Parts: sequence; structure tokens; C-alpha cells
Amino acid sequence: MSKDKNIVILGASESGVGTAILAKKKEYKIFVSDNGKIKKKYKEVLLQNEIEFEETKHTEARILKADVVMKSPGIPDKISLVRQILKEGIPVISEIEFASKYTNATIAGITGSNGKTTTTMMLYQILKRAGLKVGEAGNIGYSFAEQVALENYNHYVLELSSFQLDGIISFAPHIAVITNITPDHLDRYDNNFKNYIESKFRITMNQTSVDYLIYDADDNVIINWLKKYKTKAQLIPFSIQKVVEKGAFLEDNKIKIKLDNKQFTMSLATLAVQGNHNVKNTMAASIAATLMKVRKDTIRESMENFEGAPHRLEKVLKIRGVQFINDSKATNINATYYALDSMQQPTVWIVGGEDKGNDYMELMPLVREKVKAIVCLGIDNSKIIKTYGNVMPIIVETMGAEEAVKVAHKLAEKGDNVLLSPACASFDLFKNYIDRGDQFKEAILKL
Ligand code: ADP
Repeated sequence: MSKDKNIVILGASESGVGTAILAKKKEYKIFVSDNGKIKKKYKEVLLQNEIEFEETKHTEARILKADVVMKSPGIPDKISLVRQILKEGIPVISEIEFASKYTNATIAGITGSNGKTTTTMMLYQILKRAGLKVGEAGNIGYSFAEQVALENYNHYVLELSSFQLDGIISFAPHIAVITNITPDHLDRYDNNFKNYIESKFRITMNQTSVDYLIYDADDNVIINWLKKYKTKAQLIPFSIQKVVEKGAFLEDNKIKIKLDNKQFTMSLATLAVQGNHNVKNTMAASIAATLMKVRKDTIRESMENFEGAPHRLEKVLKIRGVQFINDSKATNINATYYALDSMQQPTVWIVGGEDKGNDYMELMPLVREKVKAIVCLGIDNSKIIKTYGNVMPIIVETMGAEEAVKVAHKLAEKGDNVLLSPACASFDLFKNYIDRGDQFKEAILKL
């Protein structure tokens, strides 16, 4: 069917190579181009499948012959090559757009500033427990396109970043979730929050009246967008602040899910992961699962047994009564807000790194209430010190995970928490947030 179709794939990692595999199966002519070095494991796949590629360069003349370009989400739209492609009128799409055309599976797409991975994992685990043939993809795990090529799933749960949504044209998930929208990645959106909000809402732009949009009704950014703009999807809100007619809300320390002909409750105390943010994630995943006709007992059991993702409020160890918690994935203020909010004990807070334009004042009430000492873990800590210097008796600067853990351990007393929740990216001192969390955990083991 696609014999004469030329696809060029920019970026040869998980999404790029996965797309190449699917495109090969669909008989496209393929050219993969990466301006960096291609990782060995991906190069092997390209060679094995006899897919033409280049690395450490982009041959523009060749690329501009494409009928369609699949761009990996890591490549910004602003670079001159992408501009040139668009100028030529060649569509630039994401893996999600490309692969969704080749599957009839029911798709649940999950986006938001925080909680995407957790909610995706929750819904995936529920659907698996329900015995469905389901794949998990997007920003998480294996390439969606590769799974469409090689597996035969009836359902997909996709974690969708704004960058993936920027590259859709006709993609329409049957169920869309927006967990929340707070400023993040603004460097890729001309420092304009509005552009980023619009990007998130692309998740619903092709939905029709048989589809659903599940969203946080406590989030003013979302509510304001919905007041101003239209979506054809059926709206299903969740809230921890108010009762909603249809959707999920709290009642007597229970989550209540109420949809047309279904209603059930889950006691908060029985949930495997705690904190208000996880109550919200649980609500979103449970509504989605209910819409996909999963039985309430299966949903309850899944949420009672949910294994949280590492680096997200992950309890590491208790040493002489001090609980160490790894929340390295908290790379913005909002994520750290929920982390601090969920602390039940006096907390030594390890914070800092590469700041994406944080307003630390937003955390002030929680810092006053929950934090007994601050350990900075970053190269430039001046904003943190300036904000909290007057209210915090102890602020110590450190330059590595081991030092931060030792200092925090000294400052903590029996019954306290030591929380790594940096509110910042990690690239000043670490490879990425995983490296930061791993080094934190290793340092704890060495105590
Ligand atoms: P994402 O995939 O969107 O980055 P994660 O599930 O990986 O989201 O969580 C990222 C960070 O945000 C973690 O620190 C986590 O504890 C926190 N978090 C998780 N869910 C929420 C939520 N609904 N609202 C705010 N913060 C959240």
C-alpha cells in the first residue's frame, strides 16, 4: 500500500527505530538520520532490518525528498532543518501519529505536567489484571510503533508528552487524560505558558462525541481552557475538593467513582500509594478503567497492590528511625509541592539543581509547616537561599549525592524524613534524574 512512500525518520532512538520497524513492515522507503552517534543497540536493529541510515549528520537534500518526516520528540521544532522541512510543505509527525494509523486497538492517552508515568502505570496494571491484551508505551517502556509492528494488542495505554502531541495530525485517543497543567518545558514553547497549555490540549482535538476526556477539575488552568474552548469529547472530571456529578470525588475518606450506570468506592486507607497527588492519579486511572468496562473489584485490587514507579516518592530505607525518600523525578515546583504536602513528619529537604524558572515562594507555606532544614544539591543555589534564608534556621550547600545524604542524615533525628525532591532538573551535577536518584540511594546504603 505504501510502496512509493518515502519516510524520513529524524532521531534514531526508541521512537525513531520503532517507527522504522513499523514503516518497514508497511513497505515504506525509509531513511533514518541522526546528527549524533547512534547507540549500538539501535544501530544493530537498523542493520538487521536493512534500513538505510546516517549518523553524526543530516543530509538535507536527501531529507527534503521525504513525503513525510517522523521527528523524535527530543528534537525541537526550532532547528533550521525542521523549519526547512515544514517550509517545503512536508508533514512532520510524531511516532504516535504514525503508529496509531496502523492499529485498531482502543487507546487511552495520558498527558499532563506531572503524574503521567504514575497514571499510565496504574491504568496499565488495572487492564492487565483484568486480563486484557494491553500494551504500555509512549514516553514509557518500548516504542509504541514497534509494539504495533510486532505485537497484537487490543488496548494501549500511552504516556504522552507535549512534544509527542505537537506532532499529531489525526491521532484521537478514545480516552484522554489530562492530569494537570503547570509551567514546564517553557524553553521549548517560546517561554509562553499559553503555547504549552495548547500543546497539552491537542490530546483532545480529534476526539469525537463517543470519546472521553478525563481531567482534574481542581486545576484552574484546565478549567479555564475548557470554559473558553470546545471539545467534542464527553467530559469526565475528578476532584479532591468538590463533589462532581459524574466522575470521581472524595466522600468520607473514600474515593467515589460515579459514571452513568456504575458507582463504587475505594477507601483511601487501602491504596498502595499515598498522598493527594496519588489520590488524583488513582481517580484518573480508575475512571478510565471503568469506561473500559473493567470490574470494580479488579480496579480496587489493582490500586491496593499498585507498585509505584521508582524515583517518585519512593521510600528507600529507614535508618535509626529516619525515613529516606527518593523523589528525584520531581523536576518542577508542582511535583515537589505534592511531595512536601504528603510529608507527615518533620522533614530535612534536599532540593536544587538546574532551575527551569522556579518561583520558590509557591512552596513557602509548606516549607514553613513541614521542613526543619534544607540541604541544597546544585551548583547555583542562590535563589533557594534567597527565598528561604530568613525562615529556615539551617541551609547547607552540597555538591554531590553522597555529601547531601551525609549532611541530611546528621541533621535528621529519629522520626524525621529525609526527602530528596529537587524541584529542578538534574543536569548540572548528574546525567539525568535516574542517575541522581540512584546515587542518592547508593549513598544511603553506605551510611
Ligand atoms: P510525569 O511522568 O508526568 O513526569 P510522574 O508520575 O513520573 O509524572 O511523577 C513526576 C513527579 O510528580 C514525582 O515527583 C511525583 O511524585 C509527582 N507527581 C505524581 N503525580 C502527580 C500529580 N498528579 N500532581 C502533581 N505531582 C505529581
